[in-house]
Amino acid sequence: MNFQAILDDIVATVKPQLGAQGQVASYIPALARVSPQQFGIALRTCDGLEAASGDFATPFSIQSMSKLFSLTMAMQHLGDALWQRIGREPSGNPFNSLVQLENEHGKPRNPFINAGAIAVADRLLSHGDGVGQLLELLSALCNEPVHLDPEVAQSEAETGFRNHALANFMKSFGKLDNPVAAVLDLYFHQCAIRMSCQQMARAAGYLCRDGRHPYRPGVAVVSASQARRVNALMLTCGTYDAAGEFAYRIGLPCKSGVGGGIVAVVPDQLTLCVWSPALDASGNSLLGMQALELFAARTGLSIF
Ligand code: GLN
Repeated sequence: MNFQAILDDIVATVKPQLGAQGQVASYIPALARVSPQQFGIALRTCDGLEAASGDFATPFSIQSMSKLFSLTMAMQHLGDALWQRIGREPSGNPFNSLVQLENEHGKPRNPFINAGAIAVADRLLSHGDGVGQLLELLSALCNEPVHLDPEVAQSEAETGFRNHALANFMKSFGKLDNPVAAVLDLYFHQCAIRMSCQQMARAAGYLCRDGRHPYRPGVAVVSASQARRVNALMLTCGTYDAAGEFAYRIGLPCKSGVGGGIVAVVPDQLTLCVWSPALDASGNSLLGMQALELFAARTGLSIF
């Protein structure tokens, strides 16, 4: 398959629509000033072949895409014990919703909504890990140094009233072991990590190759069954209350972030990342979703 031609064609198709629909995340200045006139797409196959088009090398705020890698780290360290504190069911609610936490006694529905990622951050801290370890993991996975934006981390902390509420609520149920401030500090810093589409397509590579490291032969990031399970969680929970729509229209495990990135996995074939900052009502990139739909239709690649 000529992936380069397909990606170029997708860029040509979506470009005329740039800026026409959706809203760039505006809850912090550093995201509000990102131009919506940007679109990038990159993929890397299991064999290491790459194709990329548009603004694929521009770093953007990965935001909730970081939840994929914090979950991966927690699975590495804790295995199934992780699931004592976090569920595995889609929430059907916005990513920052509080409503289900009370009925579930402070146990988040899944690791990809904010409450779940905050619970994962707590588990990582108890294991002695912080944002430094997360940056190390990401840098190794994409074979290039990955950094975070301190301004974004600071703004996240200053404006993250709902995240403070979620963390305090979980703490009140005894579901966070570490101080709320420390847990949120890790969560806000992980949201502030910056990567390009190309780096993200590379970094997620272990998810299309049964957990094997994309750049280190013989190294398992997670086991094959863990990789399969992360993919299952991405499909059912990775795009929040739009997960059903993503499965219907695209049919691939995906993880999105309010920076406008979406990473998708075609098991045993490739990983793909799209980025365009304007979001739909669920907080997923509008043109990113459209591009993934075009990709699935043109390549016939879908898990169904
Ligand atoms: N920083 C954002 C938040 O915590 C991340 C949300 C997202 O990317 N969906 O609300």
